[in-house]
Amino acid sequence: MNLYLQMSVYDKYEPVIGLEVHIQLLTKSKAYSSDSTEYGSLPNTNVSVITLGHPGTLPRANKRTVEFAVRLGIACNCNITRENQYARKNYFYPDMPKGYQITQDKTPICTGGWIELPAPLNPPKGGKPESGAHTNIPPSGGGGAKRINLTRIHWEEDSGKSMHDQDPENTLIDLNRAGVPLLEMVSEPEIASGEEAYKYLTEVRKLVRYLDICDGNMEEGSLRCDANISVRLKGVKEFGKRVEVKNMNSIRNVQKAIDHEIKRLIDLAERKEDFEQETRSFDATTGTTFSMRSKEQAHDYRYFPEPDLQPVLVEQNYIDEVRKNLPPLPDALFKKYTKEFGLSDYDAGVLTDTKEIALYFEKLVSHTSNYKQASNWVTGSVKSYLNEKAVEIDQFPLSTEQLSELIKIVEDGKVSHSAASQKIFPALVVDPKKSPIKIAEEMNLIQESDSGSLTEFAKQAIAKYPEKVAEYKTGKVGLIGLFMGEVMKLSKGKADPKIANQIVKEMLDKN
Ligand code: ADP
Ligand code: MG
Repeated sequence: MNLYLQMSVYDKYEPVIGLEVHIQLLTKSKAYSSDSTEYGSLPNTNVSVITLGHPGTLPRANKRTVEFAVRLGIACNCNITRENQYARKNYFYPDMPKGYQITQDKTPICTGGWIELPAPLNPPKGGKPESGAHTNIPPSGGGGAKRINLTRIHWEEDSGKSMHDQDPENTLIDLNRAGVPLLEMVSEPEIASGEEAYKYLTEVRKLVRYLDICDGNMEEGSLRCDANISVRLKGVKEFGKRVEVKNMNSIRNVQKAIDHEIKRLIDLAERKEDFEQETRSFDATTGTTFSMRSKEQAHDYRYFPEPDLQPVLVEQNYIDEVRKNLPPLPDALFKKYTKEFGLSDYDAGVLTDTKEIALYFEKLVSHTSNYKQASNWVTGSVKSYLNEKAVEIDQFPLSTEQLSELIKIVEDGKVSHSAASQKIFPALVVDPKKSPIKIAEEMNLIQESDSGSLTEFAKQAIAKYPEKVAEYKTGKVGLIGLFMGEVMKLSKGKADPKIANQIVKEMLDKN
């Protein structure tokens, strides 16, 4: 088949995507009871009568869920709702022991707001990112290329877990997760491709981690995403019929599921085949989707205001308080690093990619104002170390004080940059109790910057090549390299090149 023709068919259509993200909150106890939320507890041990919805029991709202929702709302520039009603969503499922879920319907805690997708990488001059070997890290943050608007964020509680693979005959149910608090974040249908969905989710995950409200782990299901997908001919205003895809356990799989659905929906449209609005499941082994249920089987949830919980009033001074205590956010840090510190977008992206790296860098620049060097060390040697050892920054052996000391001795010309990165740094991470200068001394790496001995070396170098001195005098200033080479040789490579160069030049010019 002609590839060009095939592509032009897909080019006729425009995908429309809206994402629903479930964010499991890092609270110690559940949304409406004091049951523990600990992951990995023995099945059915964190289950009280409140979680089970026994008659006569009453739920009580967990205050933290209010704070976490407001944190996320502020970070996404949402409007925060003042009077928040809980709603009861009724349906039966074996992992939903109460027979209903306490959620929000008409008054979501947050409305409006947006997530900014990062601009595509602008590689620094020379085509390659400055930080060398770490080109596989997708930089992001700041410099937004596209804004995806949010419809709402609301409170929810999780269901239990049905396990179909533990027993040959029965499905087993673990209710430990039932009642764990969630936030559901719903986007407007403004995402245009699988790749944009990937970026959107990467930003959301980064944000919830910075905000300390969710661990962002998609593999364990603490961050989950349902993708709503439709296609329409370009230029058409109305949305096409949508499908909803569930069960993707990584951000990459969300992208794959969406790309697969876009193609499938366009193929259906091209064949003029109708289909039901339906919910589909992603199969990671084949990269395809299959139907779970169609619209006719859709539930009527009979939402009504939750009679057992008072509405929650969120006052302005509460919002102000939460705002005041907000941790630093990736966008603000990105702007600070590029605008105030003069770092490249790429470096700022790498530095803000995870909160832990950003906080390490923040600490480092409290000891040194050499931002460029600080950034180079973190995005270079430090990240290489972490990649190589497959560890996180909290296991990195050097304190920010030690690293700043290393930066300082290079800055002061005591050691060369290459000696610092190739010899001292590797020795220091093995023996982090030593100071960088001590290691430099032990390894005999202190540069000769004593002008007395450098002057002596310079004299000898110049005396060795009288005819080259004459040539230099006629304007061949490039010959200084020859004399410098000689000085380096005489000093056994330990001459501070900056100072030596100065001395050699002065001597030649007055000679
Ligand atoms: P439901 O509660 O039935 O899932 P919502 O109206 O809350 O429906 O929409 C859920 C998500 O689907 C939202 O993110 C929304 O942007 C998206 N969406 C709605 N209509 C479409 C469509 N035609 N194509 C793609 N996404 C859509
Ligand atoms: Mg939905």
